[in-house]
Amino acid sequence: MLLEAHSLSFSYGNTPALSDLTVSLPNGATGLLGPNGAGKTTFVRIIMGLLRIPKGKLRVHGREVATESKALKAVIGLVPEGEILVPDITAVQYTAYAGRISGLSSTEAMDRAHMVLHYVGLGGDRYRKIDGYSKGMRQRLKLAQALVHDPKLLILDEPTDGMDPKARDEMLDLLKELGNDHGKDLLLCTHLLDDVRRVCRRVLVLSQGRKMGLVDIEMQGKDTDLYAVTMRGPIPPFIDFLESHGFKVDVDTDGEGQIALSRGAADQFIQHAVSQSVQIRRLVPLRESLEEVFTRLVSKDT
Ligand code: ADP
Repeated sequence: MLLEAHSLSFSYGNTPALSDLTVSLPNGATGLLGPNGAGKTTFVRIIMGLLRIPKGKLRVHGREVATESKALKAVIGLVPEGEILVPDITAVQYTAYAGRISGLSSTEAMDRAHMVLHYVGLGGDRYRKIDGYSKGMRQRLKLAQALVHDPKLLILDEPTDGMDPKARDEMLDLLKELGNDHGKDLLLCTHLLDDVRRVCRRVLVLSQGRKMGLVDIEMQGKDTDLYAVTMRGPIPPFIDFLESHGFKVDVDTDGEGQIALSRGAADQFIQHAVSQSVQIRRLVPLRESLEEVFTRLVSKDT
């Protein structure tokens, strides 16, 4: 299990940031999605042991965050949001320094720094000063410093922020590879649904500090009762017939469109089509898109 939160709450003074959050996240890649002020950063800070837990419980990889945060730091890597603040050194110095802070010896830190900089595609630029780096290179460097101590869990805060489409693609491929081929658990905080879709198996949706849903991306849209339909034959009278039998139909005169079918109603619909000499060429369930799931979950709150 990656993470288990039980009745977790946190406030900044009188401003609630997380309210009674109970969730279990299995290992693998999970997106953390929510509008501004949803509590994502607060949740990450709590996981990292940077904020004390006033109420509730949180276990990460089976360890209590409240009492074992030091041991947890050794197995968590963070790609923070925002700019790198020490640009007047080389990438290899910067990454090795991050390794030292994470508890590696200086030799280990230097060896690992070279290795991870190659891994993220900065091998050829590793002796350059960071202030000459492009935005995309800086994002890769932040990933390198998060990987330097070979953590089991990678937490990424808006990792593709400011990247052009090609750099973003490459970053997302790297993240996918880290999860699939290197067995890392990933927690990807972002407002970009597409990043989540490409990297994650599931997504935890937060809004105003509350859990709005934990959505399995493979399974998204399972509950929709809309079917796409293509029919041939006497369409207008058939639509009238269906509506008089209580079906909700949105089909054009060419026989293309959508029909709402509750579970079990598909059989009845097909029987009606046969009885009215209408041929069904296609009848497939319509999946709710991740955008629709997200909008539905977040608007539950307003
Ligand atoms: P997100 O990362 O999803 O945008 P945050 O965790 O940053 O959400 O914020 C959750 C809530 O806590 C918001 O209402 C925000 O205004 C408030 N908040 C965040 N940081 C602070 C802070 N340092 N002091 C006071 N309120 C804060």
